[in-house]
Amino acid sequence: MNNLPNCPKCNSEYVYEDGNLLVCPECAYEWNPAEVAEEEGVVAIDANGNKLADGDTVTLIKDLKVKGAPKDLKQGTRVKNIRIVEGDHNIDCKIDGFGAMKLKSEFVKKI
Ligand SMILES: [Zn+2]
Repeated sequence: MNNLPNCPKCNSEYVYEDGNLLVCPECAYEWNPAEVAEEEGVVAIDANGNKLADGDTVTLIKDLKVKGAPKDLKQGTRVKNIRIVEGDHNIDCKIDGFGAMKLKSEFVKKI
C-alpha cells in the first residue's frame, strides 16, 4: 500500500509516481501534487456565505443561461461532486444533460 491520492480526473486508485509527477494509468492524466496543494488555497463561497469544498453537492439558486446549450439550467438543479478551481467561474462540475461545465459559486448554495 502507498499513500498516493486517487486520480483527480477519474478517481482511479492506481496512481503511480513518475519523478515529481503523479500519473494515472487509466486516463493518462499527469499532475504535480505540489501544485494541487497550492490549489487547496482556492476558496469558493456560496450564495449563503458558506465555504464550498471539493465533493460537495450544491443547488442552483437561479436559472442560468448556458452558452451553446439548447436550454437553461434551472434554479434548484442539483450539482453533485463539485470541484473548486481558480478563476471567475470557480466550480468545475458535471451536470446531467449538460455535461462538464463551470459555475460561479455565488449562484449556488450548499445542500
Ligand atoms: Zn485518471
